[in-house]
Amino acid sequence: MDITNIRDNNIKDILNSLRFNMGLTKKDIADKTGLSFSTVSSACNVLIEKGIMQEKKVQSTNVGRLPRNITFNYKQFCSVALDLQNRNLMDFTVIDFNNDVLYHSLYNVAHCFSAKDVINYAFTIFKDISKYPTFDNVQCVGLGIAVPGIFDQKAGKLINSSISYYEGASFVEIAEDVFGVPCYVDTGSNFCALSVQQKEPNANNFVYINISSEISAGVICQDKLVTGQSGHALRVAHLPLGNESEKCSISGCQNYGCIYNEISLKGMVGEYLSENTDLSLLDRWLEMIRDMRSYPQKYNDYFKEKGKYIGNLIATLVCIFDPATVYLGGHCLVIYDLLEPAIWEVVKKRCPLACQFGLQLLWDVDSNETLYKGINQSVYNGWNPLRL
Ligand SMILES: [Zn+2]
Repeated sequence: MDITNIRDNNIKDILNSLRFNMGLTKKDIADKTGLSFSTVSSACNVLIEKGIMQEKKVQSTNVGRLPRNITFNYKQFCSVALDLQNRNLMDFTVIDFNNDVLYHSLYNVAHCFSAKDVINYAFTIFKDISKYPTFDNVQCVGLGIAVPGIFDQKAGKLINSSISYYEGASFVEIAEDVFGVPCYVDTGSNFCALSVQQKEPNANNFVYINISSEISAGVICQDKLVTGQSGHALRVAHLPLGNESEKCSISGCQNYGCIYNEISLKGMVGEYLSENTDLSLLDRWLEMIRDMRSYPQKYNDYFKEKGKYIGNLIATLVCIFDPATVYLGGHCLVIYDLLEPAIWEVVKKRCPLACQFGLQLLWDVDSNETLYKGINQSVYNGWNPLRL
């Protein structure tokens, strides 16, 4: 490892020790990070000079020299989080390094026909809102995009996209060119996994499954995000757990029996209200949920069937990764309570050992928030404060 890396890692350890708190003395930081006092002191001096940290005398009732507290100005840095996993929609969030949302809104992007159009549109919005007083003294240091498909990290392109006009798009290149800051692109559930890891420091073996327009899974195994050689790991949408006589409805796939057909938003909605062409898939789903909540008995077979498919997906991942917890998020899981009996029936049958060890299935009620916090975490992880 070269010296620059060691220095960068030390600085990141120091910033991590100060993030989400009111400040520490240099000695506290040294204790918390395991670094020497002189390393902490010189790194802090560099960061104070750059305006990333500040030092303040602490009020104390003790007589003698007043201790000085170091604080990280984490509210001065923000990231832009874009969720592009839904057709014609862009979920746009600006969030600071304290995880406070500075701006959040949903935009219709039906007038955009490519990744470039959407990113240019996002930049126009960003330029407009950054004039608001909320953004005074706040610097955007990165951008993250949750994409509908698998992002090949080696080739820098999106593959197997469920939204055809994004297929093959070089999201990172386009976004870095337009925004002029580093860009991180991944599936929604990988971002969500990072978010859970940040929030629950003791969670070091878990799976986050997102079932929405997309189906994706993010796995933290022994504290590390599982990625594979090109970022193609966990292509769960195409696991052959669905009806074998049906062709996958993602045009880039060509296979039969993909689980995507059964439990993606498209699969869950099926033909419900399909005659009403004015309604988007999401609107039809919201109508369907109302109907399911009002007349659940009408949907008994549906809950059993879909619950079984979701249970099979969970059981497959539990058998491979042996997680302590499976988090479930996304539009389709807003009816988790109705699907739960059928899901557990499969999981108990297929994974008796994991159940014996107390496997938990947790429904993430606000997966949207989990996602943009995860994107923020990804930007924060990649941020190098010495290269401002
Ligand atoms: Zn497929």
